[in-house]
Amino acid sequence: MEKLPQGLAQALLPWYDAHGRDLPWRRDPTPYRVWVSEIMLQQTRIEAARGYFERFMAALPTVEALAAAEEQTVLKLWEGLGYYSRARNLHRAAGVIVERYGGALPADEKALRALPGIGDYTAGAVASIAFDLAAPAVDGNVLRICARLTCCPDSIGDGKVKTAFREALREQYPPQRCGAFTSALMELGETVCLPGTPDCGACPLAAMCAAHRTGRETDWPVMPEKAPRRVQPKTVFILEYRDRIALAKRPDRGLLAGLWELPNVEGELDEAAALCQADVWGCAPEALIPCGRAEHIFTHLEWHMAGWRVRCGAAPERFVWTTAAERATGYPVPSAFRAYMKQL
Ligand code: SF4
Repeated sequence: MEKLPQGLAQALLPWYDAHGRDLPWRRDPTPYRVWVSEIMLQQTRIEAARGYFERFMAALPTVEALAAAEEQTVLKLWEGLGYYSRARNLHRAAGVIVERYGGALPADEKALRALPGIGDYTAGAVASIAFDLAAPAVDGNVLRICARLTCCPDSIGDGKVKTAFREALREQYPPQRCGAFTSALMELGETVCLPGTPDCGACPLAAMCAAHRTGRETDWPVMPEKAPRRVQPKTVFILEYRDRIALAKRPDRGLLAGLWELPNVEGELDEAAALCQADVWGCAPEALIPCGRAEHIFTHLEWHMAGWRVRCGAAPERFVWTTAAERATGYPVPSAFRAYMKQL
C-alpha cells in the first residue's frame, strides 16, 4: 500500500476552521455529548440525527441520567433511528461508566474501546474530539479519503487496510488540535470527498491526492463485494379493539430486540388465511380490510410485508392493547412498521 502523503493536518486544519459546519454536538463537546453523537451518527445521516440528539440530551443530559433511565425510555428516544443495539449498548455502557469511572468517560482510547458498543472508530472519535488525544477515527468516509489519496488497490472492506490507514493517520496527528484534525477528516468525507461526486476543486488535499492526479477519482475506493440480502415475506396486522391497537414485544435478543411491533407472521397470508390467524390468536375477528404493502430493508435482510386491518370482538391477553396516548409516550416501535403505524 502506498504511504499517505505528509502534511494532512497542516492542509486540513485551516480549511476546517473556515468551512467546518456548526453542528449541535460540536458546540460544547463534552465527552458525553461527543460519545452520544458518535454512536448516533453511525448509520444515521447528520440531518436525521440532529433532532434526535437534541431530544436525547434534553431528556438524559448526563451519563448518570442515562444510566438511571429505564431501557424502554432510551429505546423510545431512539425510536425510528434504527440499529437499536446502539441504544441498548449506550445504556449499558453508561452503567459501566458510573460504576467503574464515577460517571466520567475515561480519557483513554483503550479503556473507551472496552465499553459496550464502542469500537475502534468511536474510541478514536471520543479520545481525540473530547480529550484531544492522537487517536484516529476511521470510518467509511475516512477510508474513502485515504484510499483516494493513495490510489489504494485493496478493498476497504479488508480489515488490514483499515488498520494500516488508522496507524498511518496516527502518525499525522499534530501536537495540538487532535480533535479538530479528526473532525476535519470527517467533514471532508461528508461534504467534499463524496462517494460519487467528489468536489476536488474545493478540496484542501487536491495537490497531494493521487486519485485526483489520475482524473479518475471515483475509481477509488475499491469496495468489498456485498452479500445479497435475504427476502422475508411477512403479514402484518393492525388489530383494533375499540380505541385500542394490539402491540407485541419482540424477544430480548436478535433483530430489533426489546422493541414493540404490530403482530405479524412470516409469509404472505391471503384474506381467508389472515382471518384464520386473527381467530387463532383469539381476536374474534369481525371485519378485515387490506392496508397495503410495505418493504423495509435491513443490512442483510428485506421484509416484504402485506398488511391487514382487523376489527376485533375480543382483546386476548397475548397482546398489549394500547391507546394512542400510551403509544405516544411509551412502546418504542421500529420504523420497519412505519407504513402501518402511520395509519393508526
Ligand atoms: S482531491 Fe478529490 S478525490 Fe482527492 S481527497 Fe480531495 S475530494 Fe477526494
